[in-house]
Amino acid sequence: MSNHLETAQRVVVKIGSALLTDAETGKLNRTWLQAMVEDIARMRARGQDMLIVSSGAISLGRRALKLPAGKLKLEESQAAAAVGQIGLAHAFQEILSAYGFSCAQILLTLEDTEERRRYLNARSTINTLLKLGAVPVINENDTVATTEIRYGDNDRLAARVASMVSADCLVLLSDVDGLYTAPPHLPGAKHIPEVAEITPEIEGMAGDAASIYSRGGMKTKIAAARIATEGGARMAIANGRTLRPLQAVEEGARVTWFAAHSTPFAARKRWISGSLKSAGTITIDDGAVKALIQGRSLLPAGVREVEGDFERGDAVTVRDLQGQEIARGLTAYDSRDARIIKGHSSREIEDLLGYSGRAEMIHRDDLVLKKP
Ligand code: GLU
Repeated sequence: MSNHLETAQRVVVKIGSALLTDAETGKLNRTWLQAMVEDIARMRARGQDMLIVSSGAISLGRRALKLPAGKLKLEESQAAAAVGQIGLAHAFQEILSAYGFSCAQILLTLEDTEERRRYLNARSTINTLLKLGAVPVINENDTVATTEIRYGDNDRLAARVASMVSADCLVLLSDVDGLYTAPPHLPGAKHIPEVAEITPEIEGMAGDAASIYSRGGMKTKIAAARIATEGGARMAIANGRTLRPLQAVEEGARVTWFAAHSTPFAARKRWISGSLKSAGTITIDDGAVKALIQGRSLLPAGVREVEGDFERGDAVTVRDLQGQEIARGLTAYDSRDARIIKGHSSREIEDLLGYSGRAEMIHRDDLVLKKP
């Protein structure tokens, strides 16, 4: 089981605040972070895409601002995050660059992963960063998130990120080594190495174990597991309280693995073809039909007709000239711009629209062919 980490292609690692900051002093735990980055570097050298979701902004910031111990008010934690995030990003940048990596800071709000237009943007930026060899370091944009539109915990944020970027593995590093049948300090509590299905019984095992620094207890970890596994990633809850925790997992340290329910690819395609209402229709010529069948993207040049009123990121139906449905996909242009660039080569997009948009009307990753 431990080799799940070795075989994964794209791994999201979530680091909890309790690991990054010293409980007594609230200071950043540099030695630990350095060793953690060594883990990341080793996995990158094996050809794996690595993304980090890091907490710690609030706990670092509260120390800098000398805020009192205990629960903070929302506006205090937002203020703390604004201060702490700088130190956090700086530490990552310093340590990652020592290993030759560019560090990319990405601050997300709930809307960035839930609203399709913004989701497409966030995803394509992250994919571009990975292609360019950078290591994305992601956190919630706590400073501007309001109560109603925040995750509040990085466990679920990390799970959303994992499914957004089609990662096949998510590791939640925290101060526990997995799920137990009862609170671990009680006699008779048994560790659960593998969860095939998140049943109500499993959910019942998740007590509230949040520390004062981290928001996520076992409940949010199970909620994260639900999101990640449905998105096609397997997820581990692992103890990060050791140097090089990922290596420890590979070498057989005790963790709980949650089995993936599909592959990232299938999950995404199912999401596009099944759960999204079509907001319009794009009719394409025979050449474009052929290109799609060969697995290529839909370019504006092959588009003949655009019907309906849709936004960028909406799901649309793609038909051939006979009116037969060929595919479903997420459009990179809204209906107004799509009408302007239809039939034109991608090179003309900038002249026609006044901005240089994407070359594809629908990227092949966002396209699902109808079964004949
Ligand atoms: N985003 C918060 C921070 O950086 C952490 C949330 C959590 O602990 O899960 O402090």
